[in-house]
Amino acid sequence: MTQLGLPDDIQACLFDLDGVVTKTAVVHAAAWKETFDAFLRAQEGPGTRPFDAVADYDEYVDGRPRADGVRAFLDSRGIHLPEGTPGDPPDAPTVHGLGNRKNELLLERIRTGGVEAYEGTLRYLEAVRAEGLRTAIVSSSANCRDVLRAVGAEHFFDVRIDGVVAAERRLPGKPHPDTFLAAAHDLGVEPSRAAVFEDALAGMDAGRAGGFGYVVGLDRVGQGDALYAHGASVVVKDLTELGGKR
Ligand SMILES: [Mg+2]
Repeated sequence: MTQLGLPDDIQACLFDLDGVVTKTAVVHAAAWKETFDAFLRAQEGPGTRPFDAVADYDEYVDGRPRADGVRAFLDSRGIHLPEGTPGDPPDAPTVHGLGNRKNELLLERIRTGGVEAYEGTLRYLEAVRAEGLRTAIVSSSANCRDVLRAVGAEHFFDVRIDGVVAAERRLPGKPHPDTFLAAAHDLGVEPSRAAVFEDALAGMDAGRAGGFGYVVGLDRVGQGDALYAHGASVVVKDLTELGGKR
């Protein structure tokens, strides 16, 4: 193992954004809850109990592309909506309409509450760069670039595979490994020589499915056991635990 706490054949580090670099998981969960609860209140019958911002968030929406999250959560309640189109207004009773409502609430929260970075991750990124490893940000978020800019972290990454790039290249999102595989490819590094840094269960699944050399699970909410069950090589609460002190 290196002083970064990684196997010594690792040449690249692939970082998730929300919950790994930035403290936006809480903001996402709140925006999802407001969106789904308003929708569920208007429904009738069983399966309309409120969205659980921890359990439902972890299981169905965290780390997934927006529309996939809407579909997965509604499926879990036996509710099926028409897909609609990406341009649907935020009050449309469609998968994309609900997704757009959530994004509207998220952007509002980002604008008013600000976004914070995890200091430990920024320090670790500095150490990773100093060691000469290549880096990528791999996020389902279509707002990835704005968020990175907001916390002054854009310069840490050689490659960005986010919701915008994934849509352009038609890459399926996490838990599929395709976005991480695209990042490794763009960095010119074999997946077995790349480490994945993720806080979502869907991200662990993607790391395992892609055959990556090392998968670091960030346990921000006390879900360490679940991260291991989904394929983490190691679980830490902050990246400074891994190393990188210089
Ligand atoms: Mg995440």
